[in-house]
Amino acid sequence: MFDLIFPPLCFACESVLTQGEQGICTICRHELPQTNYHIQNPNPVERLFLGRVALKKAVSFLKFEDHNRVQHLLHELKYHGQETIGTYLGHWFGSIISECEFFDPIDGIIPVPVSKKRLKQRGYNQVLKFAQALAEKLNCPCIDTILLKSKEVTSQVKLSSSERSKVLSGTFTASTSSDFDFFSNILLVDDLITTGATIEACANTLHEAGYYQINVASIAFRV
Ligand SMILES: [Zn+2]
Repeated sequence: MFDLIFPPLCFACESVLTQGEQGICTICRHELPQTNYHIQNPNPVERLFLGRVALKKAVSFLKFEDHNRVQHLLHELKYHGQETIGTYLGHWFGSIISECEFFDPIDGIIPVPVSKKRLKQRGYNQVLKFAQALAEKLNCPCIDTILLKSKEVTSQVKLSSSERSKVLSGTFTASTSSDFDFFSNILLVDDLITTGATIEACANTLHEAGYYQINVASIAFRV
């Protein structure tokens, strides 16, 4: 049924979707700025982490800039309960990276966690649906019980990215799992990569817990 009173709107530009369009309108689907980092070697995400933390491969789907449609999408996903954006983008990006076999076969996906407090406030981890949709396309489990965040860290604006990463490291914990062993090829998934401090802290925590093969994917990368 097409809803005339509350017609579905495009997640990115908020124009009314026409019949047959789902989630994102045809124009946005063509115009959303994709990074195409899956065809660059090394790409800017991988270069960001060079010398900071050992990652196998890393990639982001969309380019995030202030006031662009990607910022709007992430804002809706994070603050307005539009969790399905994650599913939509995960299926889309998952198809792209599975077709080109960007990663070696992934054994499991671990979403970057939010703290219990944040989970209570927001009601969901905004990364989870994207991670689950990627897992479907990459044919592997998505497990959100291995990496946990014990607390939120307040304003880190004045810290350098390595200082920020050190502060953040203390907030994540990782446990061993019967699903994975030390040789498992893990994909760590986040919504937005800006300084890389969160990914660096999570990857270090996973390394310390014995997961050595870490790859990274995010919805967006701040360019
Ligand atoms: Zn649109």
